[in-house]
Amino acid sequence: MHFSGLLLCLALPRTFAALVQPPLRAHSVGAARHPVPQAGFLDSLFGSSKGAAVADPPAVSQPGVVTPTKPAAVTEPTDVATAHVGTVSDSKLSKLYDLVVIGGGPAGVAGALKAAQMGKRVLLVDKPKAAPEAGGLDFGFGGPTGLFSKALRDVGKNLDIKTLESMMMDNNVIWQQVRNNCLRLASNNAKNCLAALSNFRVDYLQGTATLAPTEEGAATSPISIVKHADNEATQVTARKVLLCTGSKPTRLPSIPFDDVRVFDSDTVNGLAFLPRSVVIVGSGIIAIEYAKIFRKFGAEVTMLVRGSAMTALKRIGLDETIAERLLAGLAEDNVKVLENTSVKAFLEVPSDGCEISDDPDIGGNSCSPIELSLVNADGSDAGTIQTEIFMAATGRKPVAKGTSLDLEGAGIELTERGGHIVVDGTMRTSVPSVYAAGDCIEGPALASTGVDQAQRAVQYMFGSSNKQVQVAADFPIGMWTTPEIGYYGMTKAVAIEKGYDAEEGVATYDKCLRGRVFAPDGVLKLVFDRESKRILGVHIIGTDACEMVHYGMGLVEKQTTIFDLIGTLFTAVTFHELFKEAAFNANSKLEYGIEWQEVLSELSIALPEADKLDETELRKKFDEIDTSGDGSLDEDEVKAVFTSIGQDVDDEVVSNLIHLADEDGNGTIEWDEFNSIFRVLKQMKALNAF
Ligand SMILES: Cc1cc2nc3c(=O)[nH]c(=O)nc-3n(C[C@H](O)[C@H](O)[C@H](O)COP(=O)(O)OP(=O)(O)OC[C@H]3O[C@@H](n4cnc5c(N)ncnc54)[C@H](O)[C@@H]3O)c2cc1C
Repeated sequence: MHFSGLLLCLALPRTFAALVQPPLRAHSVGAARHPVPQAGFLDSLFGSSKGAAVADPPAVSQPGVVTPTKPAAVTEPTDVATAHVGTVSDSKLSKLYDLVVIGGGPAGVAGALKAAQMGKRVLLVDKPKAAPEAGGLDFGFGGPTGLFSKALRDVGKNLDIKTLESMMMDNNVIWQQVRNNCLRLASNNAKNCLAALSNFRVDYLQGTATLAPTEEGAATSPISIVKHADNEATQVTARKVLLCTGSKPTRLPSIPFDDVRVFDSDTVNGLAFLPRSVVIVGSGIIAIEYAKIFRKFGAEVTMLVRGSAMTALKRIGLDETIAERLLAGLAEDNVKVLENTSVKAFLEVPSDGCEISDDPDIGGNSCSPIELSLVNADGSDAGTIQTEIFMAATGRKPVAKGTSLDLEGAGIELTERGGHIVVDGTMRTSVPSVYAAGDCIEGPALASTGVDQAQRAVQYMFGSSNKQVQVAADFPIGMWTTPEIGYYGMTKAVAIEKGYDAEEGVATYDKCLRGRVFAPDGVLKLVFDRESKRILGVHIIGTDACEMVHYGMGLVEKQTTIFDLIGTLFTAVTFHELFKEAAFNANSKLEYGIEWQEVLSELSIALPEADKLDETELRKKFDEIDTSGDGSLDEDEVKAVFTSIGQDVDDEVVSNLIHLADEDGNGTIEWDEFNSIFRVLKQMKALNAF
């Protein structure tokens, strides 16, 4: 799964030429000096927990501080005029809407577009994620909360920090370049979303919505909105409401978040300097993604994991081999993973951020470190650690309970534990005209699933009762680590638990030419059922794994067998050839692989009653023909047995059968081998495999 591909509207500009990747350089805290812009430029881009969402963009022009420049050339995806973006005339707002969508992340935008495509009159209300620029464009609009991490990762892949440093480029300039690239990506995405909404005549209003109680039996729901443009309150009415208000990071009270040096997974978007060292708490996808990203930028990275990293990865459904490779990759990259370790106390958090030298030639910051004391799982002392920045990736919670939405006042039921919005199978909340989708409901909290849920919700709310809506039972997962991880369907362990005779077909990346030459470090696994040969799951770690997982998803959904895959034609010199290689490997683990299929198929025609024969009867016939009594039959004798229980079998088929079964090469077939051929014939007949 390519994350950007999920963002409906995202067009990723790749304006940077790829530079040669140098070896990583470790930095110790305080050893290097670099100028540090104090203002969170990305606050204005991606927002921060300090309420930048509705504040004006910071006018940054102080000594020693780099004034952020707009990207030199943002690729214009469309001609959408950005003037007065996010405002809607009072006359339009006064008319009844078919649907009001609250929230302009990937789920909200997808839901709004779906309804508009069904001919409905739609208003999308969104509290800007970032302070909009003069024309009203909110760079974060339509983008997922994880957009910044994807942008950083892509920039990190294409921007060679070591080379730029060796060209005597100051770190603040490098970071500026990094941020400009992120800005381009976000800006492009937002403009594409606006263009799509405008094409489908969806009204888009920047503002904060509150759900008013819907009177029982009423055909419409009232929604109050404080408009971002003038802070004025207005009220709109709608037949249906779709809540897509997303999620925010869980903030443990013991962590002194200041969003300058101590961040959560949202406010890290406001990071104002290129850090030399990072401590990350957590072991989930977000923690690992950021660990890899900061390492790529040359920082010393330490991950603190409360328990075992492997257990945490398995909990999120990762295959064991893939998880092992991922952890090995972290170690190879010199990411320090401290397991069974947590923060005991923040001994020192410098309140003044990083000081900047006024002299650009010196170009230094005096970044006094944060100091943490650590504790082992058994309560013993684990020493102290110093770091320039600290990031907590310890989970997220829905934007639902206790927010300005006032869901409680509107009578919307919330889950006891997480405070998620409760929905039924049609995404409907406890108030019949109100639906919800995305991170604000329980579920996987992915942009991809949020989009799917929102589209389904709209189909349900406006579809006729007999209209079938396809429900996604399973979904692909992409981890944007380096190398990437993509998976879909069952692991071998889960498949066995569910009663399958599961096995794996494995292909390392060096099994295909492209992998051998360009990216040998990776594995693709197919989990399959030995009986039916059907593919049950696909697990990939390596280059383009997040793209390739979709092909694997198709294989699982279409119940493709490993034999089908062996017969599939793939374009040469692609990573997709690995699927075929894994299928060959799977085949080699079968007692009767694809090479047997023709012989078995011929036998099943010649011996239509073979499945009805029990083992004692078969043994009797075998012994009758085995006149020498040595427990084996030659070609003519095998033919005679077949004739005695069915019809004549072609000489060539018998010859091939002996060729495949005759392991010791003496031209005969032993009783055990003979018997097992009948066993597999029975199995295949039972499965209608012929
Ligand atoms: C670091 C990171 C990495 C991630 N990586 C991936 C990945 O690889 N793949 C993937 O699929 N997902 C990923 N995700 C998850 C993904 O970003 C979220 O699942 C997705 O953004 C959720 O979309 P949403 O539309 O439900 O909510 P959001 O994107 O959170 O949007 C909600 C919107 O609602 C607005 N809002 C809230 N309250 C109100 C109100 N009262 N009135 C008006 N507007 C309101 C908010 O301002 C916001 O604009 C990642 C997340 C993070 C943090």
